[in-house]
Amino acid sequence: MQDLLIKNGNVLLFKDDNILIQNKDILVKDGKIAKIEDEISENLNQNIKVIDAKDHIVMPGLINTHAHIPMSIFRETTEGCSLYEWLNEKIWPIEDSLTKEEIYYASLLSFIEMLSTGTTCINDQYFMSEQIRDAARKCKVRAVITRTIMDTDGNYKTRLEEFKNFYNTRDENEDLITYSVAPHSLYTCSGACLQATADLAREDNLPIHVHC
Ligand SMILES: [Zn+2]
Repeated sequence: MQDLLIKNGNVLLFKDDNILIQNKDILVKDGKIAKIEDEISENLNQNIKVIDAKDHIVMPGLINTHAHIPMSIFRETTEGCSLYEWLNEKIWPIEDSLTKEEIYYASLLSFIEMLSTGTTCINDQYFMSEQIRDAARKCKVRAVITRTIMDTDGNYKTRLEEFKNFYNTRDENEDLITYSVAPHSLYTCSGACLQATADLAREDNLPIHVHC
């Protein structure tokens, strides 16, 4: 991994309960912050990338705690509806016709948009999860991925199996991509469905991601 030196940035620092913005250099070694000092110039090896951050803020990445990553392509297309009208008449019928390729490119677009505005970690809840994971790997973004489980048609077991099959194809050495179990919501999941997702989360020690 290439080391990184960020010079002359306005660095956002946290001290006690205060936020300070100070002009500092930051040295990143082996992917971790090694030093934050007024000026770093020592022993810079050949393989270091230097970024001049003058007039820029340097801060931790933002975290998007709830996303449906590919859905940004629907932005400004279905405003002004009630929740159920929006879900039943607009969004779900469109989602039923999405192809895997469309999900992949829509996910790329959303990841690029989030990265370009400072979000580096995303907690997602959607389906066609392989394509979302492929896009996350391509963008090297940190993501918590799942396969949403609903029970509006009484068929939660199929979706639960889909999640398990997807989770079983994970790369255990992968640092940036992790998983959650995601019952969609209290209004689209039966008691049995919620219980089954809770059991699975406990079994595999995974977090739960649900709309409340
Ligand atoms: Zn949501």
